[in-house]
Amino acid sequence: MEKKGRVFSGARPTGKQHLGNYLGAINNYVALQNDYDCVYAVVDIHALTTMETTKDLKANTLDMVLDWLAAGIDPAKSIVFVQSHVPQINELHVILSMVTMLGKLTDLPTFKEKVRQQPQNVNYGLVGYPVLMAADIVLYKTNLVPVGVDQAPHIEFTREIVRSFNYRYNTDVLIEPQMKVTEFPKVLGIDGQQKMGKSLDNHIEMAATPEETQKRVMMMVTDPQRKRRSDPGNPDVCNVYSLHKTFSSPDEVKMVNQECRTAGIGCVDCKKLLAKNINSHFVPFREKRAELAQKPERIWEILEDGADRARVIAAETIREVRDAIGMP
Ligand code: SF4
Repeated sequence: MEKKGRVFSGARPTGKQHLGNYLGAINNYVALQNDYDCVYAVVDIHALTTMETTKDLKANTLDMVLDWLAAGIDPAKSIVFVQSHVPQINELHVILSMVTMLGKLTDLPTFKEKVRQQPQNVNYGLVGYPVLMAADIVLYKTNLVPVGVDQAPHIEFTREIVRSFNYRYNTDVLIEPQMKVTEFPKVLGIDGQQKMGKSLDNHIEMAATPEETQKRVMMMVTDPQRKRRSDPGNPDVCNVYSLHKTFSSPDEVKMVNQECRTAGIGCVDCKKLLAKNINSHFVPFREKRAELAQKPERIWEILEDGADRARVIAAETIREVRDAIGMP
């Protein structure tokens, strides 16, 4: 079947993935493969801008890619690789930096936020982060970038850089990517307050054991107004209910909704049901992951093959870019 265009997406090597990664990105990555020519990168260079230590970089890359593959990202359909294995990214990053005004970069809210978060490490790479991201996208002749609504400004910035380059060198070699805006569910962590994330230790890993999963689910914060078992609850403000909507059957979701409001079900039983359903959902994933994890060398081969395929596209883009500029 003819594909509709090329999709690029990158993720930092954060190690084992959690339910937030799964519902917010991985599910979508898997779904896009049938209709698009997909390029999925582990963006390790990006990670260097904020990492305090790199000792887990390799292990985290392996863990993340194991999760991707076990979840259904298929290297026969998609290019899966590590960003730094394609050195052309660095050349394009530098070239695009010449058509990007410094003031624009330092004015970006994301840059200001990073400065606030790590005032002791406002490095050069942090300022150029959006240019590197633009280089990732255009190096692979990307047509579409899947984004949540909040990430739309990043893609608009990439489009501006592309226009600047094409205008400055009177060319059309760089493709202006379009956004594929998707409504990603906002997955809250077990604290019920903040977005699920490893750094907050409020996550539930996809590859957790059934026991670990149950333990984390039992820690979840519920409707704060429901103090006793006999109090009626409000599922609409409870994160346990939000996850039921994803992992439980429609009948179970209906039952929880009704029984919570009338105190017919207690939070302990409600969470046990959720844990059971999360565990059932991930049985095939966990089996596949365990199988893949037995042969880590196979994962590195898959990544090397992905980098070979990515380098072919990257080399062509760089050749066109150099020609457009008139570089000797
Ligand atoms: Fe939340 Fe379930 Fe407790 Fe209701 S019964 S407050 S949905 S955990």
